[in-house]
This record gives sequence, structure tokens and C-alpha cells, in this order.
Amino acid sequence: MAKECLQDKEKLACCYRSFYKMSIIPSRDGDAVVATCGDNMSYPENKVIVKENIKGAWNSPQFRFQRKLILKNDWSPCKGACCVFHPFGLEDKFLDDPDVKSAIAGKKEELAYAPKLLAIIPSHACNFDCYSCYHVFKKNSRIKYRLKDNLLKEIEETLIPSAENVLISGGEPFFAQESREFIDRLVLNHPHKQIAINTNGSLIHEYGLDKIIGSNLHLTITVYGMEAKTYEAVTKRNNRDIVFCNIEELIARRYKRMQLIFLVSERSFNDSEKFCEFIAGHEGLNGIVRNNWYEGAKFWGLMNRLEEKYASISSRLKFQYQNVSLPRAIYRRFYNPIHSLRYLLRR
Ligand code: SF4
Ligand code: SF4
Repeated sequence: MAKECLQDKEKLACCYRSFYKMSIIPSRDGDAVVATCGDNMSYPENKVIVKENIKGAWNSPQFRFQRKLILKNDWSPCKGACCVFHPFGLEDKFLDDPDVKSAIAGKKEELAYAPKLLAIIPSHACNFDCYSCYHVFKKNSRIKYRLKDNLLKEIEETLIPSAENVLISGGEPFFAQESREFIDRLVLNHPHKQIAINTNGSLIHEYGLDKIIGSNLHLTITVYGMEAKTYEAVTKRNNRDIVFCNIEELIARRYKRMQLIFLVSERSFNDSEKFCEFIAGHEGLNGIVRNNWYEGAKFWGLMNRLEEKYASISSRLKFQYQNVSLPRAIYRRFYNPIHSLRYLLRR
């Protein structure tokens, strides 16, 4: 039986991201689109757009309202989202954080502490052109979506020092110059902080394998196929061999802070099992099989079969079932005005 998407009541009831997480992405004008969760980021009533003072947004009326509802066990700000939690439990520790626990227990909507987990997209620019890209609607103008320098500086000065975990994604973080330089500064100035990079893996050698191995960077590499022709069909680039050369080199050099994600899509599903074999064949390497969210649940059956077949390595191979279906999107569209009205009335 296919797994339920993570938008189920049990998961929602333990999600307190708005008490510890901040996502920051660039708008077309380079302003910061701020949300407490990437999974409900796209709903206008859930985000705040700022030109400066990103830290101040943490206690904006919108986020205080989210917390107010959640403290009443009302997760309506999240309705319609397809929530994706870190399958290896990265976020679990934040629920045990003393500040977070005390804020929830004390029913605080305004938080005296800064975000503990930062997810930042410095730029949407990318060297791939995936048909499945979540920025697909922006692909021709993607390069314009980059955080202004003053905002990156502000993030470095006011948010990074107090964050426990920092996640950088894109676009391709090793492609845009401002993004590479931002990573360089984080590594230099915060050598003991956990900095995770979501990458397509094709530019790791250019950024520098030695640099990565000798740093505090953790890599999550998305794999779009196991065969060259699959790679090309998904990404419109002939980069399969470069990506796997980088992965194999990191494995050979015993780099441990790496995990791979295989994106199951209409153009790559035939390679799913080969990916599971790859993970099974590399002791100590973690993998995630995740379906493309906007193609619905059509590959859940395949994923379910693979999850059962590879149950013996379930501690290293996880499956993420996503489904942003049309009915859910329509439902949310109708719900938006209700949520916005509740926000205006603050109830
Ligand atoms: S959308 Fe999902 S992951 Fe995001 S805050 Fe809501 S319940 Fe949590
Ligand atoms: S590698 Fe990622 S950001 Fe780049 S086109 Fe593909 S899905 Fe989009």
C-alpha cells in the first residue's frame, strides 16, 4: 500500500517549524522572501517580503499569527502543503532545544531567540535546465533572482552567528558567483557550524574537492538518473559522468558528510532501482528516493516496492512520498482568502 503523504494529521501535529526555522529566497527584485517553512512558502499569506532587516521578519505579525494558531493545535497555515521532513531526522533535535521547548510550553508567539535552522537560496541561477525544476516557471529569468548584497551581508552578520544549522541551495549553489563566495565566507568564518549544501553535483570539482573535504560542508547531491541518456532527458545536459566522477571521488577519499537524493520522475523512474543498488553497494553512504512533487503519486507504487525490497538497508535508504496534486492546489486556492481574513481579524 502506498504511503500517505506527509500532510497527515499526525505529522502536522508535531511540526513546530515556525518556532525554529527560517527560509530565505530571493524575489525577482533581489528582495528577501522570508517564510518559516519552505513547504508553505508559496502561499502569499505565509510569507513576508523584506528589503532589509530580515531578522526583524522572524517576529512579523504573519509569523506570530502562525505560532498563535499552532499553539492552539491549528495547522491551517499549512493546509495544502506537501510537507517534506528530513528523512534522517535532522530537525528532530530542534524540538528538544531549550529555547524552542520553553517558547512552546510558555505559548510564546513572539520569540526572544533567533532562528536555529536557516535555509537560504542566495541565487536561483543554475547550470542545468531540468524539466522537473521547481523553478520551472522562472527558468528564463532565473538568473535575475539573486539576493541583494546588503541582504546577504545582513544574513551573515545577524542570523548566521546564532543559527545551529545552515542549508544553502539554489539554483545550483556552486554555479552563481555570489553563492560560491557566500559559501566561502561561511566556511572561513564559521568552521564549526554545520553548513549543508544542496547541489546537483556537477561543479564540485570546480569548487574544489580538497576544499570540500577539508571543510565543514555537508553535501546533499541530487541525482537525476543513473544512465547518461536519462540524465540528458531530465536535465537537458550531458553531465552524468561528471556528477558520478565527483561522487565516486568523494567516496574514494572517504568523505563521510554526503548523501544522495534520487529524483523519481516521468523521465527517470526506470533508473530508480539502479540508484538503490548503488546505495546498497556503498557501505556508509545514505540515499533518499523522492518523487517529483508535481507529478503526483503515480510512482508511489514503484517506490513502495523498492522500499520493501531494500528494507535491509532502511537505515541508509529512505523514501519520501510527495504529492502536490491538483485537488490539493485547488483546495488551497479556495482556502487562501479564508486564512487571510482570519489573519486580518487575528483569530
Ligand atoms: S507546511 Fe508542513 S512542514 Fe511546513 S510548517 Fe506546515 S506542517 Fe510543517
Ligand atoms: S539542478 Fe535543481 S535548480 Fe538546477 S535546473 Fe535542475 S532542479 Fe532546477
